[in-house]
Amino acid sequence: MHKSKRKWICVDCPRNTKHEHYFVNNSVWCEEAKMPETGMLCVQCLEGRIGRRLEPSDFTDAFINDPRKNPTMSDLLRSRITGVNNDNFQLA
Ligand SMILES: [Zn+2]
Repeated sequence: MHKSKRKWICVDCPRNTKHEHYFVNNSVWCEEAKMPETGMLCVQCLEGRIGRRLEPSDFTDAFINDPRKNPTMSDLLRSRITGVNNDNFQLA
């Protein structure tokens, strides 16, 4: 594997997070998920760590959280950010 791809791998599972690139509030990332500032988590593993479903208010206003500016985001991430169709996705 090319070394530069490592940074896209979720720290908790082998999933590539390239389409689940997002920013959540520090209180969620550092305090609830106990994550260091560097590192990637896929949506499912982040929700596993915090023990709840992500809400639209958990995400910052960073441009990568905007589905219109980041059209390749996964359907799961999009549903969490927008709060639309959330019930179509259940935690594994
Ligand atoms: Zn993961």
